[in-house]
Amino acid sequence: MQQLVFATNNNHKLEEVRAILTPRFTVKSLSEMSCFDEIPETADTLEGNALLKATYIFDKYKVNCFADDTGLEVEALHGAPGVYSARYAGEENNADKNMQKLLLATAQTNNRKARFRTVIALILNGKPIYFEGIVGGSIALQPLGESGFGYDPIFIPDGFSLSFAQLGEDIKNKISHRAQAVSKLAHFLRGL
Ligand code: IMP
Repeated sequence: MQQLVFATNNNHKLEEVRAILTPRFTVKSLSEMSCFDEIPETADTLEGNALLKATYIFDKYKVNCFADDTGLEVEALHGAPGVYSARYAGEENNADKNMQKLLLATAQTNNRKARFRTVIALILNGKPIYFEGIVGGSIALQPLGESGFGYDPIFIPDGFSLSFAQLGEDIKNKISHRAQAVSKLAHFLRGL
């Protein structure tokens, strides 16, 4: 069985990824590697940040590894908040403040189209390979629902009339940006 390190300590993401990659691969988190470093995310693209995180782990441990980065890209805001989604309303990554700022920024527009985009950078035998997952949708006029995290209450995926936060984890995890990127990663790894 092959081992991969996922450069995250987010248990939610870890379980989502393990569910897809087990039993063919064992996936270790950063804390299971006893890595508690603050890994820099200073790039200005999702690809750049995913690669920075994966490269950091590869350089330190010389293991096959991958990292992800996600952004919410709003058409009327020319792709913002994008790579800065976590820090849109300030460094503290406050979901309520981020949503309020986005609702304000889109209050005057009828174009509410948006998409979540996830990029995974896998470093396999020292070489990077990218996988992308996208889910299109629109920005709600106000927060709807309680489940999930981040911008889930204001994101209505295409084909649904409910927000990610109203649809709940089971449906979200089948159609989400991250699920799509992870299943591309899994497809690639199965073909090795
Ligand atoms: P990360 O790269 O996965 O840490 O995501 C960066 C930011 O994008 C998070 O802090 C959230 O604000 C937002 N985000 C990422 N994935 C999701 C999601 O599935 N739902 C809602 N917001 C998300």
